[in-house]
Amino acid sequence: MKPQIVTEVPGPRSREIWEREKQHITSGLAPCTLLAPIVFERGEGALVWDVDGNCYIDCAAGVLTNSTGHCHPKVVSALQEQAGRLWHIHDFPTPQRYELCELLAERCPPGIDTFEFYSGGTETVEAALRAAISYTRRYEFISFHHGYHGKTLGSRGLALWWGKGFGPVNGSGIRSPFAYCYRCPFGLTYPACDLRCAEYLREGIRFNSWGSIAGIVFEPVLGAGGVVVPPDGFLERVTEIARAEGALVVADEVLTGVGRTGTFLALEHWDIQPDLVFFGKGLGSGFPIMALGGKREIMTATPYGSPGGASTSFGGNPLAVAVALSTLQVIEEENLLAHTQEMGRLLAERFAVLKEKHPLVGDVRGVGLLWGIELVKDRKTREPAEEEGRQVYLESLQRGLKTITPGHVTRFSPPLNIPRELLEMAVDIYDVTLSAVERRCGYSEA
Ligand code: PMP
Repeated sequence: MKPQIVTEVPGPRSREIWEREKQHITSGLAPCTLLAPIVFERGEGALVWDVDGNCYIDCAAGVLTNSTGHCHPKVVSALQEQAGRLWHIHDFPTPQRYELCELLAERCPPGIDTFEFYSGGTETVEAALRAAISYTRRYEFISFHHGYHGKTLGSRGLALWWGKGFGPVNGSGIRSPFAYCYRCPFGLTYPACDLRCAEYLREGIRFNSWGSIAGIVFEPVLGAGGVVVPPDGFLERVTEIARAEGALVVADEVLTGVGRTGTFLALEHWDIQPDLVFFGKGLGSGFPIMALGGKREIMTATPYGSPGGASTSFGGNPLAVAVALSTLQVIEEENLLAHTQEMGRLLAERFAVLKEKHPLVGDVRGVGLLWGIELVKDRKTREPAEEEGRQVYLESLQRGLKTITPGHVTRFSPPLNIPRELLEMAVDIYDVTLSAVERRCGYSEA
């Protein structure tokens, strides 16, 4: 099976359905969707079909959620079986939730042995902040430019670039530059820079903290902010600073966790021991379930750990737990971490070639099956090629490749079990598309 496009994209049936839906659905859907409101109806592995019969390689994996691909037979049968037994029973213990906790305790770094489950990432971020405040009795958080943690008041407070129009957020925070080397705010080059960005954090703390830092919250690899893999030493240095301040190390692995970077957690690429870590886009293969894990003394500190302090309506319901367990089993049985690492090496090679060949490509970054291709108008000025990025996104779809983020950073994040041939095909389509957009926009090949 391979991608095949048989109509224009979006096709006539998609357009007909969207015309009706758009009368009643918010205009605040994701840019990917709004630019190409394709009506999808079926998925299998790394492929998805729309209502017009077009088939695409899903290099967005939903929104980096479908870790085991679309409708993995084992995951589907786990869900079906559970659906006939028990859907929801508040947060009473169930025959499977302890199994999930035990498995996660095995997979997580030493000391992370206590969990609570949620249905969405933002909600989990908020829970982590509550847990950190409960344990430390402090209220400030350190976070990073280009980080993304969600859309609620607390989570937006960690990332002020998102959602400015919504007005003020909790002011108790220090946001510091991440090690985004391609766009170093200090104009320096690694390693000669000696990680000035991490050092700058000390200044930030000195001038902006009330001396009450509860935690440092970071994505080990920036996701929505542009897929930025920090150079060795950055997270270590930042963690060191946090420890010196008596702050908790809080890793947001919503996007990077559950194998996305080729290890269960991305933190494993460095020697960082978190106090709290949360993850889950891929935990339910697309079914909503997120996990917050932490050291027992943190997860039981009051008020987070007092009766009712952690629980929600849907978090860790029996359906979600069944799907998560079966997702973890599939990742294990099919050796998907090793496969992800191997596919990551393949992408590193293929994208390096694209970078040589295409003037639009300014930088390629990634690890495992989390990659970003940063498009620029000019390699010297590094001006982001936003419009070209949109065109690349749309034209890729027209050739049967679904990526994510129609802007100057294309994200390539297929299911962890994408077969090699499909991944190669996806890169071929992206290559051809880049050439077409470059030709039309007057870029000459590098
Ligand atoms: N943290 C990170 C790192 C994320 O990537 C996201 C979602 N893209 C969130 C938090 C928020 O998750 P959700 O959209 O499920 O609320």
